[in-house]
Amino acid sequence: MSNRGMLIVLSGPSGVGKGTVRQAMLKDKDQNFKYSISMTTRNKRPGEVDGVDYFFRSKMEFESEIENGGMLEYAKYVDHYYGTPLRYVNETLESGTDVFLEIEVNGAMQVRKKCPDGVFIFLTPPDLVTLRDRIVKRGTDDAATIEKRLEKARSEIKMMQNYDYAVVNDKVELAVHRIEKIIESEHLRVPRVIDIYKKMIGVVNR
Ligand code: 5GP
Repeated sequence: MSNRGMLIVLSGPSGVGKGTVRQAMLKDKDQNFKYSISMTTRNKRPGEVDGVDYFFRSKMEFESEIENGGMLEYAKYVDHYYGTPLRYVNETLESGTDVFLEIEVNGAMQVRKKCPDGVFIFLTPPDLVTLRDRIVKRGTDDAATIEKRLEKARSEIKMMQNYDYAVVNDKVELAVHRIEKIIESEHLRVPRVIDIYKKMIGVVNR
C-alpha cells in the first residue's frame, strides 16, 4: 500500500497574496500538511525569524547546499537565491504526510519534473487592476518599478498553463477554501489510491 504523502505546490505572480494565503492555510487546524521552510540568501525583513519564515543563509552556504545535492529546487529571484531543502521534503513525504511548498514558477517547474505526481496550484489575481492596487499598497515602489512588477506579473501569469489548477485570490478565505477542496479531491484520485484497493482485493480473494 502506498501511503506516501502528497506534494502540494503553490505559485503565483508577485503581489497576488501567496504569503497571506499560505499563512491562512497554516493556521487552519484541520490541515494535515507540513510547510517546507525555504532557504534564501535575501536579508531578513522586520519580524521575520530564521528557521520559521526562511532559513536565512549566506550565498556561500547556499551554493554549497546546491553542490552537495541538498536542494529539491532552487531559483534566483530578484538577485537572491531561494530554494527548497530536499531532505525535509523527502522525509515528510516518506512518513505519509503531505508537504506544502510556496515557491516561484521556475522552481515549481523543476519540482514538476522531479515529482510529476505533485499537485501544482497557481494563485491568480481577480484582475490586473486589483494586482496593481496590491503592489501599490505594499509600499515603497516608484511608478516605474510598479510597471516593471506588473510586466513581470503578466509574464508569470502566462506560466499558468504549466499548472493543474488556477485559484483566484479574490478573498483569502475563499482562496484557502478552494485550495483545501483541491487537496481533498486530489487525495481521492484513482492513481493515488489504486494500490490500497489492489491490496484490499488481494486480501478478500485469499
Ligand atoms: P519573498 O522575498 O517575497 O519572501 O519571496 C520572493 C519569491 O520567492 C516569492 O515568489 C516566493 O514564492 C518565492 N520563493 C520562496 N521560497 C522559495 C523557494 O524555496 N524556491 C523558489 N523557487 N521560490 C521561492
